[in-house]
Amino acid sequence: SRQEVSYFGAGPAPLPTSVVEEGAKAFVNFNDTGLGLGEISHRSAAATKILNDAKANLTALLDIPDNYEILFMQAGGSGEFSAVVQNLVPVWIERRRRRAEAEITKANPNAEKAEVDELVFSRLQKEVDEELKLDYLVTGSWSLKASQEAARLVGSKYVNVALDARKANNGKFGVIPAEETWSLTPTKKEGGKGSAFVYFCDNETVDGVEFQSFPKSLEAQGQDEEDERLVVADMSSNFISRKVDVSKYAVIFGGAQKNIGVTGITLAIVRKDLLPPHTATPPPALLHRLNIGGLPGPVVLDYATIAKNNSLYNTLPIFNLWIAGQVMADLVNAFGAQKVSGQEEVASQKAQLIYGALDKFPQVYQVVPDKSIRSRMNICFRVHNGDDAKEKEFIAGAEKRLLQGLKGHRSVGGMRASNYNAVPLENVQKLVKYLEDYATGN
Ligand code: PMP
Repeated sequence: SRQEVSYFGAGPAPLPTSVVEEGAKAFVNFNDTGLGLGEISHRSAAATKILNDAKANLTALLDIPDNYEILFMQAGGSGEFSAVVQNLVPVWIERRRRRAEAEITKANPNAEKAEVDELVFSRLQKEVDEELKLDYLVTGSWSLKASQEAARLVGSKYVNVALDARKANNGKFGVIPAEETWSLTPTKKEGGKGSAFVYFCDNETVDGVEFQSFPKSLEAQGQDEEDERLVVADMSSNFISRKVDVSKYAVIFGGAQKNIGVTGITLAIVRKDLLPPHTATPPPALLHRLNIGGLPGPVVLDYATIAKNNSLYNTLPIFNLWIAGQVMADLVNAFGAQKVSGQEEVASQKAQLIYGALDKFPQVYQVVPDKSIRSRMNICFRVHNGDDAKEKEFIAGAEKRLLQGLKGHRSVGGMRASNYNAVPLENVQKLVKYLEDYATGN
């Protein structure tokens, strides 16, 4: 039964039992309407209420400021790897286009519009060629994938890997080197012209690496567009697990299937001034002519379109949305005024219990990432330094106690205990007991 199994899978991940049970009922007969949540229209009043309630609860939990849009999308975290490129590179182009147009018009007051447009285009072409940069901090498998997707879309010459953490750790992820060693594209204040955005993954699910706080060098440096770093963060695997100052980000995104729901819904929190009408999207004809791969991109990943349609541009999976909304509503109810800080305390407490047990037996367990950047969500460790037979034995022993989902990602091996929001303290205690028993031969 559910009560007997302790599941530590990395995603899909456990959900609160109450939500799963309510969900099962709502899938059959939602609110006594005689229809299930998989059957009602995404444009019905019931669906709109589910959507707006979810937005309100997320806003309350994370204190999301008014100048941000909450978008419910599909195509997973991976879809957002493409979406951030597709949406933010045009913002960079449009800002440059406006600047070029203003300067060229000023210098050529009598020029015809068509003439100005041609001059603007030539300048833009040159600026794209020489100055378009997308900064990526590569600290694990998922930021690596995101940077590869950017390179696939727009071309690797535009992608600046400002940090490849493997280089500081014998080719393996597991550290976040000091910020002074990163090579971010310099802002105007720093003597450069800035990048289209800086991307990082807040919590690396496969490698167990989590940023402990917002990086100092990504803080805005002034009001000027060229001094701003537009920061994008993938929070797929630590969404709503700690306090976040949303105002520091241009875009935060995350798939639902770890901390807040089932697969099929992706959340994006996007600063409104990056969307029309504040920042007009460059006309598709201009993007085509500039010929940067991947642009303008599919409309279902276009933030402006999704925002304009309150996330209902096309059919949104309402059942999946309901699940996420329910999880958020429960967190709001459970922690009240404490908001997400309440969940943060619980997450840290559980993580400390597990790391504590691992650290107690260094001969038996080796935590993979460096101590300074250990993830509270994905706890990656080896048993007897990765001895294959011992690790198999460890897993078999865990399975016997119905401790499941402890195998590390296939790309790195080893063990991984995922400690998402819905993993009960009691299950963590069972894991801790097993870690102690295994290490002491019981
Ligand atoms: N980012 C992170 C941090 C992830 O953990 C994952 C999935 N495990 C993804 C992105 C990709 O998400 P999806 O499978 O929903 O595309």
